[in-house]
Amino acid sequence: MSAELIDGKAVAAEIDARAGEVGAELAKEIGRAPCLAVVLIGDDPASEVYVRNKVKRTEAAGLKSIEIRKPAETTEAEAIEIVRGLNADDSVDGILVQMPLPDQIDANRVIGEIDPDKDVDGLTDVSAGRIVLGKPGLRPCTPAGCVLLAERALGDLSGKNVVVIGRSILVGKPAALLFLEKNATVTIAHSRTKDLPALCRTADILVPAVGRPEMVKGDWVKPGACVLDVGINRIDAPERGEGKTRLVGDAAFDEIVGHAGWITPVPGGIGPMTIAMLLRNTVIAAATRSGKNLPADF
Ligand code: NDP
Repeated sequence: MSAELIDGKAVAAEIDARAGEVGAELAKEIGRAPCLAVVLIGDDPASEVYVRNKVKRTEAAGLKSIEIRKPAETTEAEAIEIVRGLNADDSVDGILVQMPLPDQIDANRVIGEIDPDKDVDGLTDVSAGRIVLGKPGLRPCTPAGCVLLAERALGDLSGKNVVVIGRSILVGKPAALLFLEKNATVTIAHSRTKDLPALCRTADILVPAVGRPEMVKGDWVKPGACVLDVGINRIDAPERGEGKTRLVGDAAFDEIVGHAGWITPVPGGIGPMTIAMLLRNTVIAAATRSGKNLPADF
């Protein structure tokens, strides 16, 4: 048996297009396109690329984007002022502050200022509380992308055993809660978990979100299981030439692909879903803020 590859890039393109379609319908009702504001502080090269991609895909879907760029010397008070300005701007539906922020700025304080109804990254305390309480709200993008791909592959997730490896606020914890919301039976593993390989073998759905290249080995994966590899790790690739690198996930793809049921590749799996869910959240935020309904299947 060979695993079915989950093509996150194709699903993400579909979600982008649908967000654009639903956003265009909404724009007719509210008189403007749903709008995402992205704040980039400093000159981190990776952040530059992420922000460029976010803006490009937002605009390609026909949604509006605003880009606010500030120098690395920006103070915490100035960053907070930017967020407060965007909160007060009624034409802005979603606010994303690109991480990491320069050292002098406490990221938690800045995120804490974001209006939860515009928190399209799903990172505020209120957004986290809404997940725990099962209340409607904006869900964090990468975990929401994992759940969506799992549903596409397996259908109903009810009763499935899910093992999430990693307990970060950004990925592991919200992913676990979102799978729980789908009535899966969820275990969160982390660096202190005992006999991780044995635990992983119980999983119908395994979600490594660790940041350790190819940590999950072939014999950690139950035959037929679904592996959603969140990890993105850059490793040396001397076989491609001197100084070359390549991206790998947290799962040893080549060891797993022969017997898993489904697997997401890296790159091209979970990664593209993150921006797709961001666009979707922007449309959801625009509808919620203006008291409009969205199609039931969105
Ligand atoms: P963090 O570093 O915040 O969290 C890593 C988690 O992995 C921690 O909970 C840690 O446990 C756990 N861990 C570390 N070592 C082990 C181990 N040996 N065994 C079991 N668990 C371990 O990372 P993030 O959650 O932010 O990101 C995880 C990965 O996902 C990274 O590769 C990142 O690049 C990628 N990522 C991908 C995204 C995408 O769009 N596809 C978006 C966001 C992240 P403990 O808490 O005990 O220390």
